[in-house]
Amino acid sequence: MSHLFYLSTAARPVLNRAEGIYMWDRDGRRFIDGSSGAMVSNIGHSNPAVLAAMRAQMDKSTFGYRLHFETEPGERLAAKVAALSPAGLEKVFFVSGGSEAVESAVKLARQWAVVTGQAQRWKVISRFPSYHGSTLGALSLTGYDPLTDPFLPMMVQMPKIPAPRAYLDGLDMEDPATGAHYAAMLEAQILAEGPGSVLAFIQEPVGGASTGALVPPAGYMQAIRTICDRYGVLLIHDEVMSGGGRVGTFLGGDLWGIIPDIVAISKGFGAGYVPLGAMVARGDIVEAVQAAGGFVHGHTYAGNPLACAAGLAVLEEIGRNDLMGNAARVGAVLKSRLKNLMQRYGFIGDVRGEGMLLAFELVADRATMTPLPPAMKAFDTLVELAYAEGLIVYSRRTRGGYAGDHVLVCPPMITTEAQVDEIMDKLIRALDQFA
Ligand code: PLP
Repeated sequence: MSHLFYLSTAARPVLNRAEGIYMWDRDGRRFIDGSSGAMVSNIGHSNPAVLAAMRAQMDKSTFGYRLHFETEPGERLAAKVAALSPAGLEKVFFVSGGSEAVESAVKLARQWAVVTGQAQRWKVISRFPSYHGSTLGALSLTGYDPLTDPFLPMMVQMPKIPAPRAYLDGLDMEDPATGAHYAAMLEAQILAEGPGSVLAFIQEPVGGASTGALVPPAGYMQAIRTICDRYGVLLIHDEVMSGGGRVGTFLGGDLWGIIPDIVAISKGFGAGYVPLGAMVARGDIVEAVQAAGGFVHGHTYAGNPLACAAGLAVLEEIGRNDLMGNAARVGAVLKSRLKNLMQRYGFIGDVRGEGMLLAFELVADRATMTPLPPAMKAFDTLVELAYAEGLIVYSRRTRGGYAGDHVLVCPPMITTEAQVDEIMDKLIRALDQFA
């Protein structure tokens, strides 16, 4: 009997070792990590340079409490993150995960409002569906009923607007009118709430598990930035999944040249080597809060030197091997191979994403984008079929299907074209059985 427990009841083999894009269980069975875990292991497993950097740091120190010491890895990693981020995003606050990064972003925004005479601003508008984390604050921003419902009485209800799922609404992704249509929903919500009460808007530039790699339609990102500016609303990008290089640029917002006021990153930032995340914020926001006595927030393990040394080595490895370029190039190959599947399988309704953050959606009828019937929630079955073929892909259990039955195919950024062939062979074998 195992003493561990998680959401899933599916029995899983015991992991033995992992290297590159492959993982082996205790019985020697090999799996392709076609989802980088939960879109985490961006540079693959057991990277020698990262392991060496971690060993070297362990010989010096593994922990120095942030209120007692600055650390060299911390300073160097913060400088690297600021250099990779767009102009103005220059202050870095370390945490140990995505939920912590989102909570930190929201609390910094709020404290900034308080110290700048805008204490009436507290509402954070988010999108539906969305996922921003599992702690109560981040959960209040999350638009995903099965995850939020049991906890509703314990959370402040934050306003939600629809995510721009143009593919479901039958709208043209390339038409700027489509982007304007969805962005106008933010403006309407701000006006309905009372602009003076709205603190921030938070969105995932390229969607994660809740929307299945949703890419915004033309014009959307620019329009959102303009609307936030018009009403003095801070724009927070949750790049916990899309940040760190997976989409082919360091941040998802970079794909559209949109600079938010605060960004949350994690997952691929620690890349499976250490729990690590960061909030990156506009310099003047942090300075205002610092001048008023400092940011009243923090987590004990934040910015520990071991995590920072690993994070730094991950970013150096990405730079040294142009892994963002590889994610863009090989990701485009993978995406077009996934798109080709639409000719073979009528139940694939959409293929979307950027770089190595890709997903396909399963539908009963592509013309109407009707979801799979509930009895055919065989969608989890597809993931299991792929698993049996030795390919790990990622799905979010929709339990009702309203968020769409999508499957994320997000291998590590080091994946080669030959490995894309391997992934596709296994996926097709699973899809044939699913059909
Ligand atoms: N935000 C996004 C977009 C995510 O995808 C996730 C995790 O899946 C989180 C926040 C929460 O991150 P964590 O699970 O590290 O707390």
